[in-house]
Amino acid sequence: MLSKTDFIQYLNCPKSLWLKQRKPDVYPEGEQSEYAKKLAREGYEVERYVQRLVQSRPDADAYSFQDVFETGEGLYARADMLRKHEDGSIDIFEIKSSTSVKDSNPHNQLKDAAFQAIAVAKTGREVRNIFIVHLNKDYIRDGEIDPAGLLIFADETARVKGLIEETEQQIEDALSLLGEATIDESSCTCLNFSRSHHCDSFDYFNPGIPERSIYALPRLSGAKLASFVADGRFALDQIQLDEVTRLQQPIIKAYISGAPYIDLADIENFIGVLKYPLYFLDYETYASAVPIVDGAGPQEQVPFQFSLHVLQEDGGFEHVEYLADRPEQPRPLVEALEGAIGATGSVITWNRAFENTRNKEMAEAFPDKADFLLGLVERTVDLMDVFKTGYVDIRFNGSTSIKKVLPVVVPELSYEGMEIADGTAAMDGWNKMVNEGDPEKRALLRKALLEYCKLDTLAMVRIFQFVRTLHG
Ligand code: SF4
Repeated sequence: MLSKTDFIQYLNCPKSLWLKQRKPDVYPEGEQSEYAKKLAREGYEVERYVQRLVQSRPDADAYSFQDVFETGEGLYARADMLRKHEDGSIDIFEIKSSTSVKDSNPHNQLKDAAFQAIAVAKTGREVRNIFIVHLNKDYIRDGEIDPAGLLIFADETARVKGLIEETEQQIEDALSLLGEATIDESSCTCLNFSRSHHCDSFDYFNPGIPERSIYALPRLSGAKLASFVADGRFALDQIQLDEVTRLQQPIIKAYISGAPYIDLADIENFIGVLKYPLYFLDYETYASAVPIVDGAGPQEQVPFQFSLHVLQEDGGFEHVEYLADRPEQPRPLVEALEGAIGATGSVITWNRAFENTRNKEMAEAFPDKADFLLGLVERTVDLMDVFKTGYVDIRFNGSTSIKKVLPVVVPELSYEGMEIADGTAAMDGWNKMVNEGDPEKRALLRKALLEYCKLDTLAMVRIFQFVRTLHG
């Protein structure tokens, strides 16, 4: 069978679909599958509001949900919503949790709809109109969700029908590929793309690529990567320093020397701008397709937690934290932060674009706090920058994520074994906590959330202390 999800996977990468269907035992189910599950969960949530909306219409009986269509060729389509006309023709509604219609890979919603339309038509029904139902990006929650304001019904009949012929051919090609007992498994096209394009099957299809390879080099241009691949040069010690940029050289140097690459001038530049006390700050945020907080829109990131470690020049050390007990606009969070951060001193984050964007958004939402929040933006420095060219260990494998840096430079601190160990889990955990009726379970979730966020800023403090020892 070829489902709509399979078909979209085929469009992104035929080989990965073949592996999933023909060799499920070796197919790696990884993070990308988790992301797909999140999209599906959000889609069902949006569907509930679509149901509520159409139930209030005079022609409510004409609508149905989750109808299944199976064809003799092996197509399997489950339509999110259908409207049946008196003449027997059908309108198809694809329900999405995005805030616009996506018409390109990796998730081309028009192709989704074309697949549905083809499957429905092959069962003998006439498809009249095709809609993509998505979220209204300008919707702002104010009390109960208003489905009519939240949802946009985009009539995409013309664009989808224009894709039918091409999609029919692609479906035929996909079915033909899945019928093949063997394919060339000796490599795949992502050899020519950077690591961000690789799926979890990369290692399976490219077993000869060394663990430390050219794919660890950040921002490698497509032309440079293609030339290394054409030469069969994948190992880092096959690349000359003058072939790569200043950002990429430290990784090769660290690999060849077998020791961390340290640029003291870079580290001096970072330390030199700092002003005590140092405020190590981290936010956790919640974003959902359907906003759960008044004043927020679809997919908007709403901060619900911060952890702040304050380090004085004399070594004095303090921890302050805030965790919202219920969905709310983050004014109490800002007030708690204002009470903890003084008028002077640098704010240290990891990947400052995230915290600064939240600070700017909150400054807009609370104009009376704008001076404070925009002041934080001015005072914020990014500890992650040190690990781009100032200190590079080959064990980071080209990453500057705190999850990669911490275990190398401060191995005694670890996220391992924590009930909540990453931002997505924190989001889920907080959602469960605010909806949990059992006080004991609620307290456990609260504790896990506080521990996780506290470790994020404690990790930054320890990493900073490590950097300071290098500086002398
Ligand atoms: S890594 Fe290979 S299998 Fe995965 S998407 Fe890229 S080409 Fe396809």
